[in-house]
Order: sequence, then structure tokens, then C-alpha cells
Amino acid sequence: MSDAEESDSNIPYFFPDERPIRFTLETFPHSAAIKNAAGAPWACAVSPFTDVGGPADGDGQRGPPRPVPIDRVARCEECFAYINKFSEFTSRFWKCALCGHMSRITQELSRYRDRRTFRSLPELTQETVEFELPLDSKGAMMRNGEVLLENGYLAQEPAAARPVVYLAVVDESGGPEYHDVMAEVLDTCVQRLPDDCRLGVVTVSDRVGLVDLTAPLPHVQLVDLGSGTGAGGGGGQGTAGQPGGGGGSWTEPSSAVGLSEVMSLEELLCPIGGNRELISANVRGLRGACRDAGAAATGRAGTRVTGLAVKLLLDLLLGAAPGPAGAGATSTAGGGRDAKDGRVGAPGRRTSTGASAAERGVGVGGFAFAGCRLMLFLGGAPDRGPGAVGVVSPAVAGGGGGDVEAEGFVHDQLFRGEPRALGFYRGQAYRAASCGVSVDVHCFANKTCGHFGLSSMAPLAMTTGGGVYRHSLLHQREGENRAVTVAREVCAELLQPRVYDGLLRVRTSAEFNVNRDGVYGNLTADPRLESLWHVASCYSGQSFAMDFEFRGAGGGAELQWDEDEDASATVQSAFAYTAVVPDADASSEAASDNAINGGGATNAARMVTVRRLRVSTVRTDSSPSVEVVATAADPATVAAVLAHKVVSEARRSGFAEARGLLRDWLANFISGLAESLEASEGGRESAIPGGGGVEQAQALMANPLIVGVARQVFGLLQSPVLHPTKGIADERVSLLSRLSSLDPESLSIALYPEMQGYATPDIRLANSLSLSRQAVTEASPACRIFVVDTFWRVVVHYADSPVSLAAGEAAGEAPLPFPPSRDSAIGQYLEMRRAVRPLAGQEVVYSRPGTPEAFFFEETLLEDRPLPRAEKAETFKSFFAEIIRDVLQTS
Ligand SMILES: [Zn+2]
Repeated sequence: MSDAEESDSNIPYFFPDERPIRFTLETFPHSAAIKNAAGAPWACAVSPFTDVGGPADGDGQRGPPRPVPIDRVARCEECFAYINKFSEFTSRFWKCALCGHMSRITQELSRYRDRRTFRSLPELTQETVEFELPLDSKGAMMRNGEVLLENGYLAQEPAAARPVVYLAVVDESGGPEYHDVMAEVLDTCVQRLPDDCRLGVVTVSDRVGLVDLTAPLPHVQLVDLGSGTGAGGGGGQGTAGQPGGGGGSWTEPSSAVGLSEVMSLEELLCPIGGNRELISANVRGLRGACRDAGAAATGRAGTRVTGLAVKLLLDLLLGAAPGPAGAGATSTAGGGRDAKDGRVGAPGRRTSTGASAAERGVGVGGFAFAGCRLMLFLGGAPDRGPGAVGVVSPAVAGGGGGDVEAEGFVHDQLFRGEPRALGFYRGQAYRAASCGVSVDVHCFANKTCGHFGLSSMAPLAMTTGGGVYRHSLLHQREGENRAVTVAREVCAELLQPRVYDGLLRVRTSAEFNVNRDGVYGNLTADPRLESLWHVASCYSGQSFAMDFEFRGAGGGAELQWDEDEDASATVQSAFAYTAVVPDADASSEAASDNAINGGGATNAARMVTVRRLRVSTVRTDSSPSVEVVATAADPATVAAVLAHKVVSEARRSGFAEARGLLRDWLANFISGLAESLEASEGGRESAIPGGGGVEQAQALMANPLIVGVARQVFGLLQSPVLHPTKGIADERVSLLSRLSSLDPESLSIALYPEMQGYATPDIRLANSLSLSRQAVTEASPACRIFVVDTFWRVVVHYADSPVSLAAGEAAGEAPLPFPPSRDSAIGQYLEMRRAVRPLAGQEVVYSRPGTPEAFFFEETLLEDRPLPRAEKAETFKSFFAEIIRDVLQTS
């Protein structure tokens, strides 16, 4: 490559793909037999809230025009799919693109009657469209779990009247460092949350307290938990072989009062607008009102009833009456009762019962919220009462060398969580998800507490669209205020725009459907209705994975296939959600109105809470040729779906099983592809010679699709999520919760980082380089700078060694600018990445050979890193070669 060569603008950047629905196989298999022969999972990744024409984000601009009310949009009489751009029309009927049913164009559907204009309607021209739903189910009818409108309904409300609420649970006995961070986190939230939000703070230790944020001085109202909490406190004597087991003898006291008897939800949640200074002073002074706050966290058992606090808060949020029979808090083992509890506040959009108020986040006394983020800030593991997890010694939690197998067993146990606590939190998660409450779990590891039992608490976050985060208060860098750094991390995630109370439905062509046992991601299946999921909160790009299966006896259905016609399959996602958006109708008058309500945002548009429905419809080809189907695999989506499946297998049966499964799966995929490419007629580039010889092995190892998928699998095996001994359980769970909501593109980079090569900071020469020393050597000296995006951070590595630099200098060459300027191609790339991937790690490390930072670059070369001892193969090269050998031997 010569210096004269310009940076190639055709080299793609790897950024989130904004397609709302992506398939693992871009051409669908015609039948189950073809699907099996192709050897790849047949599934989709759904990102229901990608940025396609979404609501404006409160930047002071007027919002997009109001979408069309849903009752003016046609739906199939047979399968209830929404009319879409693939629908066909006759004079009086329209044909459903999913089931083929002919529905009548009735008088009410006048928008489809005007022959001159109807073809330009958004729902008949765009892949993704938004419709308006009623904010309350009042005046709406139900059909099949979804709302139909009647005339006259509430379409929007001022955001202050139906706010997004933030509820923080603070650990009284977290210790001084913990309280420093909490003061910082809460105050940053108070400063940065919009005016129309509300914030509430609850304290927990062996007691629960509600904080009055409007009091002139920090004031905590204690809740009477009855006598039951005093005696028989949590055990927490978990041992290495048997982690967990805490809180065994605890039963819920019959005398416990509901939180509402101490403070109403409306009193607990303080409006931010107009109260910023008061709240700020109160959260900064909260530590003084906490017991034990001065002492270091002791890690002694029986100090935290965190699980009970969660249950009581959900009672309050759901407006449900508390009582001894509530929420599976008894010592019943397993999750049976808990699951049942989730069904009591049955989700859905019923119109007449009190339950519907709770479902839509309307608490006691009619206080309504748009959505809720319940934030648990743990200073130690919950070790008393319902949801107690065992206390594990730091040596066990951290994994301390020694026997890999024994250690692996302990890691398995910790990763899977403690059954009773898991059951309890699952039950609470169902309740939360069905009413738009999303739970985040943050823990702060310090010298005395390293294990928080996050694997048991994970369902709380991972079925409600929330996240699990482990922050370390240790390892303070020089000159760093750790509390400020951690607070920044917490708030960056917390303030990310979200929509709430989501309901996702996925409809498909009649020949196949979503396999209800194969749905992955941070969502909850509706207990009553098929193909309906609750997504308590969702950020732009948040993704879910769903397996498809053929319908009919034994999956015997087949997609229609006709040589002369396009054989196609259609998938439609419908995502209903509540959001706070700028008021499209707002005048300048309204804007000045807002200024009076306090806060600094005087120029902001008036914000309103709305309910919307986003419908995306995509269509794809299908084929009866195994070769066509297998070669249409999309590596990123395949990897995303595999990652979900394998991790859920690891939680069920342990790491060893999961790793074996992943390896088998890769062999299957390669074998399917090898067979189809071999069997097909030769003369084409993709054809691979048969015979099982060296030539075939080489051809397979050079096939870009096979290499792409194999690298992703290797990356997954290297990842701490699946590594038998790497990473402690809490860290793994935190990583897992992040990975399981990523879009396929981001996930594939997190598994196998993206490396670009640059000749100078301005000239990009290559992308998607292999992550090995050999590849780096081969790309040099044309490439002198390597930029690696690991999703968690970016490493910018200057490859010139001190010797070559000195040689260059002696020859009169100017050294490359270090670090690259903001105007350079690298600088612009970093800028662009920040904008499109705000949730990715924003740290940028600049490194040179021989500097301490070079470690970060070396670490990214994962093909050279050996897999754990249990695997026969070592580096990627030998791993890949061995799989290919196995495939050829068995075929
Ligand atoms: Zn239909």
C-alpha cells in the first residue's frame, strides 16, 4: 500500500445496525428439514425501540407530528396483524401479508378508500410506523390483549402530572466509603434529572425507612416491621461447597404494616422541579440520619432486609394491599408462590377492574406514573428475611487458584444463584415488570464485602429491562476521587433516555411462530397471552433474541414455495410503550408556562407523557436449498443468539456443559455448510472441494462466513461470562446483564473486538483485522496505528518500536502525532462512536510498545490467548483447526 493511497471511505465502520428486526438466516429455510441441514439457529434479534423516527429527545425542539390514532389503522380480522407496506388491495378488501386473510375495508377505515392518496399513507410505505394509543384504558376496548379505541380518550398528559419516577434504596450499613458514593450519586441525579421527574429515597438495614425529602433537615420515617425481624435472623453461613442458604428460618411477621400507612407514594416521591436545592441538601445529609453509617461495613450476617424492602416498595407502587399472604415471603421453597403472585396483578389492559390501575402504574389515591426505575444500591449482600442470600467468604467469591475443577464447581454454584432467593426475586420481578417498574441493582465492592449475591438478584433486573452493575470502590488511581468516578458511571447509565411499561408482540407468517421457550433478553413473558412480552423499560437499541419454529405436527409446516414466485416470510413486531416527549401541540405560551414551574430548562418544550405503538414489518425470502439458506447466515446475529442460548444453558447446567454445547454447535454449523457447499454444483467461487482432504480443510478455514462465526464462538469461550474460573460471580452476572440487552453488532464487538489499521491518524487502510500478533505483524509496516474497539473501551496503539522511531528520526522523518488530533480520521471516529454508542465504555487508552498501556493492546489479541486448561485446543488457530478436523472426520 502506498502513502498516496487515500483512506478508503468504503471500509465500513462497525456501528449499531438500526434495523428493528434482524434474522440469523437472511434467507429463511423452506422447511424444518432444510433448517436442520443448514446447521445454524433460525432466530431473530428484535430491537423494538431503535432510533427510527423515534420521539424527539427533549432538546427544546418541537416534537414530531402526532402519530395517527390506532383506531384509524386497519388490522387483520384473522390474526390481528397491523396493515403494512406488504399488504395487497382489491376494491373492497385488503390481504394480510402475514396470514393471507382478506379483510373488508369498512366504512371506519376511510383512509384506505381514497384511491389517489392511500398508497402514500405511512403504514403502507414505511417499514416502521408509530401510532397513538390512549394513555388510559378508559374508553378503550380490549381484543386479544391489545387495546382498540373508541371515540374520545386521553392521549397525553403533562409529564409532571404523570412523571417518570426514580426510587433509590440506600443501604444504611454500607460504611463511610459507600455513603460518600451515595451522596455523590443521588446529588448528581438531583442536578441532572429533568424537572418533571420525581425522586424518592428509602433506607434499609435490619429496618426500612422512608425519607422525607421535603423536610428542612434529613428525616427518615421508620416502618414497623413487626417482631418477626428481631428473632431468627438470616443465617448466611454459606460455605464453599454450598453457597447460599441464608435467611432460612425467617417468616414474614403478621404485624408488618404497609409502607402506605407511613407515607403515601405521592409523599415519598418528591417532584424535582422547584425542590432541587432542598432535595440536594437532604441527600447530602442523609448519611447523618443513618445508623451505622460511621462504622465500616462489618459484613456480619443479619443486617439487611433488602428483599423485604423490595417487596414492600412494589406493594406501594402497585397500590396493592399488604398482608401476610403477600408475595411469597414465607419460607416455601422454590418459586411457585412467587410466580403465582406475579399472576395476581395480571398484566394486560383490562378496562374495568382495579387491577388495571395497578397495571398502568397508578398507585393508591390515583397517583399515576409514566414509568419507574427502582434502584437498589447495595452496600452488602441481603442477608435477612425473604430474598436473603448466603454470605460467601471473599476467598471463595474471588476464586483463589488451586484445583480448576473444584474451583469451577464453586463458580458454577455462585453463578447459578441460590434457589430460594432466586425464586423470591423472580416473583418480585414478575410483579414489577407487569406494571412498568424496572429494577437496577448496583453494588459497591470494598475491602470488607466482595460478594453480593447478584446471581440470585439478577432476575429482578434482567426481567424488567434493568441492569446489574458491580462497581469497585477499591483501586483508586492517583489523584482520583473514586466516589465521583463511580457516581459518574452510575448516572451515565441512569440518565440514558428510556421508554417505559412496554408490551412487545411478535407476529409471523402462518407457517411458523416464535418458540416460547426460546426467547432471550431482559423481558418477561405474559403469563396468559401467547407471543406477548412485558418490557418494563427499554433504551434505544435494546435487543431481544427469539427462536423460530415451524408450526404443525412435529414442525411439519412448510413455507410456500413456487419456482416462479417470490417465496417470502413476514415478521411483524408491535411495541406499545409510555414515553415522555415534547408536546407537538405546545405553543410558546406553554413553554413560558414551563419556566414558571422552576428548574433551569426555560427554553425546553413542554413535555408530555404519551402512550405509543411502534410497528415494524419486515419480509424475507425463503429457499428450499440448504446452500442458499446456510450461506445467508449473518455472523453477528448468529453470535448474539448463540450467546443468549449458551449463557442460559450455563445458568441451568453449568459452564462445562455450556462450553461443550457451544463447541458442538460450531462443528454442526461448519459441517452443514461444508456439506451444502460440497454438494452444490461446482464452478462457483463458494464451492468447496469434497473428500475430507487437506484441500477441503483449507477451503473451509478460508471461508469468510465460517471464520466469522468461529471467531465469535472463540470470543464467547474466552469471555468471563463462560470462562470456568475467570471473574467472580458478581462480575460475571453484571457482564451478563450488559451483554444480554445489546444489539447484535455491539455484542459481536464485545465478544470479538473490532481492529482497524491506520497508516497515519488520517489514513485508514483496513478493518476487521484478526486479533493476533501475526495479523498485526503482517499489517505492519503499512499500518502504524491500530485502533481496537472492545465495546468497553477503545485502545489506540502506535506500533512503532523505539528502535524504528529512532531510525525514522535519523532519516529525517517527522514522527506521527501522538495522540491523534480531534480533527484526524481517528479523532473523528472516536467522536462518532461516542455519539452512536453512548452506552459503550467511553475510555480511550493510547499506547506504545514498552509502555504500561501496551498491556491493554496485548490483551485484545485474543486469538493468541490459550483457552482454559479443560479445552484440548489452545489458541484460536489450533482450536479452529481441531474443529475442522473433527468435522471432516465425522462427515
Ligand atoms: Zn392476518
